[in-house]
Amino acid sequence: MSIIRGNRIESILSLLENVKSAGDGKYTAACPAHEDRSPSLSISSGDDGRVLLHCFAGCTNETIVKAWGKTMSDLMPDDGGPHRNGKTKKSTRRKTYPS
Ligand SMILES: [Zn+2]
Repeated sequence: MSIIRGNRIESILSLLENVKSAGDGKYTAACPAHEDRSPSLSISSGDDGRVLLHCFAGCTNETIVKAWGKTMSDLMPDDGGPHRNGKTKKSTRRKTYPS
């Protein structure tokens, strides 16, 4: 169980139809990327605040965000958040050549 403040999932949920809470911070909704009669899209939050999507019909996340006119970065948490530990790589080494 993860509690995320200001999370992206709410803005994603506002794009969806037939949203239902599935408990534990998870939701189901109608997938926008295919003709979805029964909600086949599962939405949840990752530990780092990103939105995780899973369509049981097999749509990829990219297809789904495209159906919204959005991009994958819209699933990601905002940059410059208070805790980005572990993801910030020190830029002391520059990647010039693959060794
Ligand atoms: Zn789908």
